[in-house]
Amino acid sequence: MRIGNLAIRKLTVRFGSLTAVDDVDLDIGNGEVVALLGPSGCGKSTLLRAVAGLEPQAEGTVRRGDEDLARMPVHKRGVGLVFQDGQLFPHRDVAGNIRFGLRMHKINDPGRVDELLDLVGLSGYQRRKVTELSGGEQQRVALARALAPRPGLLLLDEPLSALDRALREQLALDLARMLRKAGTSALVVTHDHDEAFTLADRVALMREGRIVQTGTAEEVWRHPIDEPTATFLGCGLILDARIIGGTARFDLGDVHLPWAPEGTHKIGLRPHALVADPDGPLQGEVSGRVHRRDHVRLLVKLEHREVDAVATIADAPEPGHPVRLRLDPDGFALVGPRERLSVF
Ligand code: ATP
Repeated sequence: MRIGNLAIRKLTVRFGSLTAVDDVDLDIGNGEVVALLGPSGCGKSTLLRAVAGLEPQAEGTVRRGDEDLARMPVHKRGVGLVFQDGQLFPHRDVAGNIRFGLRMHKINDPGRVDELLDLVGLSGYQRRKVTELSGGEQQRVALARALAPRPGLLLLDEPLSALDRALREQLALDLARMLRKAGTSALVVTHDHDEAFTLADRVALMREGRIVQTGTAEEVWRHPIDEPTATFLGCGLILDARIIGGTARFDLGDVHLPWAPEGTHKIGLRPHALVADPDGPLQGEVSGRVHRRDHVRLLVKLEHREVDAVATIADAPEPGHPVRLRLDPDGFALVGPRERLSVF
């Protein structure tokens, strides 16, 4: 992790008897993009707003180098903001919106608007009315406006969630590239793990006002710190397993997890841990079937329990029909605190 840019310590925000942000510590390195990921209502937006200076009752410190941002008014914090719905000024054109960010900071840099439009892939859009832009284009302009004064930190609150799914996926990839190119440290709030993993160098998982785990996408995906986190990250089933020589033994069979340490652990199964396969060792009956974009999700009754599984669209069996399943190591996670798993 690159260290040194932003250090959030003991940040707490209370609304009456509700502690929306509870004693949060978080570091954001220079140029690092951190995603704040968690279920609705866990306090993500409140944490972001507190860093921006928009929650006056926040306690704790937010340090950047020697400065304590918590003591500064909003406009002096050097923080850029991007919200879900862009919040552009409808009566200004694209260039006018971006220039507004510069004027607010008394920056006179005539080439900056063109530079930013180039960065966000909207060269030539200077004179366009923002009301005539698509949702995705508006978010690009909002990003350009926030980046214009070269903020030390960019805060993005669900920047893509107002867009439709296909656009969201494309713009997430573009946004990831644009943030790297701009080189600005950023904190992005999202409730969507695909989006968090696409955008961020590191993910901070939040629950009930606290950050429960931070790590790279791969770390948190493979090693969710506890059962609620595993469930949030898609593990529908959590079982006890004994791991010996890189093989996990549990009551559905054996699966090769060479990255897993020896011992007794909880393992989490995502739906694609169980894959329909005529040669698979497990026998069951299909009790539910839902078509997804590129695969079919099955609910399968095994001898002792009902499990989620996946099949290809071409050969997914119908409800009431028998199905055989095999275990796919890619669908497994190891659940528990990292200290216990640190042997590998
Ligand atoms: P979502 O993803 O749904 O936006 P979130 O994780 O961003 O959720 P917050 O908006 O930070 O969650 O809200 C955290 C908690 O604080 C919620 O219980 C919310 O109702 C409460 N809350 C937020 N703002 C206020 C406020 N101004 N006054 C009172 N309670 C608030």
